Amino acid sequence: MSEQSQFDAAGDQLPAAEDEGAETRQAERVNLLGLPREQLEAFCSALGSRPFRARQLMSWVYKRGCGRFEDMTDLARDFRARLSARAELAVPDILQRQQAADGTCKWLLSAGNGQAFEMVYIPESDRGTLCISSQVGCALDCSFCSTAQQGFNRNLSSAEIVGQVWLANRELGFQPGGERIITNVVLMGMGEPLANYRQVLPALRIFLDDLGFDLSRRRVTLSTSGLVPQIYRLAQDINVALAVSLHAPDDALRSRLVPINRLHPIAELLEACWHYIDEQNGRSVTFEYVMLDGVNDSAEQARALARLLAGHPAKVNLIPFNPFPGSPYRRSSDDVVQRFRDVLIRAGVHATVRRTRGDEIDAACGQLVGRVHDRTLVRLGSRLAAAARSTQNAATRTGA
Ligand code: SAH
Repeated sequence: MSEQSQFDAAGDQLPAAEDEGAETRQAERVNLLGLPREQLEAFCSALGSRPFRARQLMSWVYKRGCGRFEDMTDLARDFRARLSARAELAVPDILQRQQAADGTCKWLLSAGNGQAFEMVYIPESDRGTLCISSQVGCALDCSFCSTAQQGFNRNLSSAEIVGQVWLANRELGFQPGGERIITNVVLMGMGEPLANYRQVLPALRIFLDDLGFDLSRRRVTLSTSGLVPQIYRLAQDINVALAVSLHAPDDALRSRLVPINRLHPIAELLEACWHYIDEQNGRSVTFEYVMLDGVNDSAEQARALARLLAGHPAKVNLIPFNPFPGSPYRRSSDDVVQRFRDVLIRAGVHATVRRTRGDEIDAACGQLVGRVHDRTLVRLGSRLAAAARSTQNAATRTGA
């Protein structure tokens, strides 16, 4: 198997531990938080009930935030008993809560076996954004991200992904029929969501379903470091807002910052992005660009970035670098960030600067670490570098 296909299949290969766990749970109880509408209907049928019971169940779970079958009083008593025997509504245990002065909240959540992941709520005047995780750790090895330093442990299940939103609603005091507290969900916490495609897709369906969290497709954002084949797959499967971690205007630099670029270089990645927008009738892709002092923040680099994006459905979101212990980078100064933004805007590229939130509790972008026992044997960056070296050697040997 080539490096590329090995990695692209990683989302299907890595979660051995989790899949075993899921099977064991299946034999015991099915966690209904992981089942999108059709699967929940099939589950109700299998329990000998009518599929429309799934609608009632969803209304209790997602509209009213109810987590106990015995409280779902308009369901027949024997159906509730069968549900209690065969199903559960389980959310991750909270290990720690923290709140920053600006109102940003961070929760450390248990993934079992001593592993933990994080989610963050960011309140703003006109919206409330929940930033959720898709994996315990991350295997992608981006050099400026503290999650990457922890390594990778396992994929989260769809129930653990959906469970974060359900739990945050409860924690934040959501009242049935009351105003929404979480208006936006972003998959920008720990992990690479497209490397956990099988579990992320059903969760996205539940976020969008009007019987689920009923969020509009513009208010659910998936952020990826650039797994090109999965962007094409996503374009076929579902319509959510897409954010892409670009971080550099040329392949040499991007490969250093975001190693997956060595498999899927910028031109291929952008092609996939424009395809996504065409297929989904979307507005634009948001390109995230972390501002690293003296690395990717020059006016020339801004012009190069503008040349890549001008005339395309693209927005740039500049993220001042959030430092973490041992990080080799410094944050660009505010003036430099401003200058970079101005160059983009003058070249006709829409650009904004992301305000840093919750950094005093390490809740800002790239600061989420959780508790991860690394199960990756070799870091992606070094694995790809070794693969590139051996290809070069082979080419030298054959005189290619
Ligand atoms: N794996 C996904 C989502 C996770 S991170 C992705 O790569 O897109 C969400 C955003 O925070 C990404 O754009 C990521 O590159 C950025 N980020 C990571 N570390 C950061 C840091 N130390 N400072 C600022 N942004 C960072």
